[in-house]
Amino acid sequence: MIAFVLAIQIAFLVFYGWLLKQAEFLAEQEFHNKSVIGRSNWISTLLFANNLAGFIHLVSDDTNSLRIYQSSKQAMPAELAGLYSVLKDDSEQQQRIKKSSLLIDRLYSVLEKSEKNSPYLADKTGLKNLTDNTLMPLWTELFDLRHEVLAADFAKYKVNIESLPKARSQRDNSIIILVVINVLAAAGLLYFYTHGLTVRLAILADNAKRFGLKQRLNKPVTGNDEITEVDRAFHSMSESLEIAQQRKQDFLSMISHDMRTPLSNVQASLEFVLEAHQEPLSEQTQEWLQRAYQNVDTVLSLINELLEIERIEVGGLTLVISEARLSDIIRRSADSVRAVAAQNSITIVESKLAAYVRCDEDRLIRVLVNLLGNAIKFSPPGSTVTLDCKKTTQWFEISVQDQGRGIPSELLNTIFERYKQVSPDDARKLGGTGLGLAISKAIVEAHGGLIEVESEIGKGSSFIISLPASSVELA
Ligand code: ADP
Repeated sequence: MIAFVLAIQIAFLVFYGWLLKQAEFLAEQEFHNKSVIGRSNWISTLLFANNLAGFIHLVSDDTNSLRIYQSSKQAMPAELAGLYSVLKDDSEQQQRIKKSSLLIDRLYSVLEKSEKNSPYLADKTGLKNLTDNTLMPLWTELFDLRHEVLAADFAKYKVNIESLPKARSQRDNSIIILVVINVLAAAGLLYFYTHGLTVRLAILADNAKRFGLKQRLNKPVTGNDEITEVDRAFHSMSESLEIAQQRKQDFLSMISHDMRTPLSNVQASLEFVLEAHQEPLSEQTQEWLQRAYQNVDTVLSLINELLEIERIEVGGLTLVISEARLSDIIRRSADSVRAVAAQNSITIVESKLAAYVRCDEDRLIRVLVNLLGNAIKFSPPGSTVTLDCKKTTQWFEISVQDQGRGIPSELLNTIFERYKQVSPDDARKLGGTGLGLAISKAIVEAHGGLIEVESEIGKGSSFIISLPASSVELA
């Protein structure tokens, strides 16, 4: 494409060069024509002055006339030579100049011979004979020759002058055509580049979108520029990520099958030994078995949370929506943590709002259990955890408030991210994985709601679940 535009520019230059040459040629021709006319006019004038002066001298013997005659005769050869050289390219014209030169010489000799040969001058008849028989034929011949020289030169010039209008219109048309081709080529070039660029950039943008949605990427873009490089890097990054994802998946399946199943068996066995033993166990053994049971339970909940968050990430959440009684949701959630709360001397205050909620009941309970569990975990003994509900025009809000240590304000925005914990000690001392809030957020958002936290250090935290008001009906 660039080569094409370049070719047009070169054609333009060649064309202009040709136009310039043509103009120069015409100017040269005009100059040549003017020189021929000017020189031949001057030769005629010189000859006229010469012959007239010669003739006057012949009749009157005037010395002034003789001087004019001689000086004009002296100047003549140079003028003839000048005209001869102007017509150097035309041998026919040169022949005419040579012939004119001979005739002029004959005129001189006639005039000079008559000077000595006085019979001519004896009377009027002598003079008439001189002019009629000798001078006039020479003048006529010279006059004809001059006419021929000018006519021949003008004929050449005329051919070029006549062809000028046609050449001019051809030139104008050619310029218009070249300008149009140039503009079209430039527009084409612009379209080709910007279109190619935008199409390919659109593919990159689409790939970025697909990448985010975990969809198959578009075919690699063709070409040999930076965009192709970026696209290639993007594809290879996506492939590496797919491989890493696959490895993670394999690892999770391994955890799921090779760890969860035997651990569940160990937990069931421990439970059986603790509850259904025949012989009474010593206090020490019972304590050890209880501790082992707790540890297995912690590891199992970690595995379950890991698997759940992975499931959410890979396939999203599929909710099982039904109309559930709010009192049932609250009771079941509170029941799950009641024993732990009692152990820590924490009172749970439950909402008494009567309502029906359209939701995935088990999952909503899962969220509330997590929030209540955290509230109990981070609250001092003797404090209260309140589970409250209220309906506004837009939202139905369920809040879990505690009087615990609170969350630093700079972490309030990030606490819902995976593995985020206020302090590294939280996992070590109090247990927990930092996945509970991330899972809760995913569940609430799948319901079209949102989860937020308000907190004040040393005074407590309040986690608020907002579900669309339309999903709740007050009883
Ligand atoms: P986990 O409790 O298993 O660590 P979560 O995602 O439920 O995971 O909570 C993440 C972190 O948020 C906790 O480790 C804790 O640091 C902080 N957190 C959650 N709830 C509270 C709360 N009620 N009071 C103080 N800190 C809290």
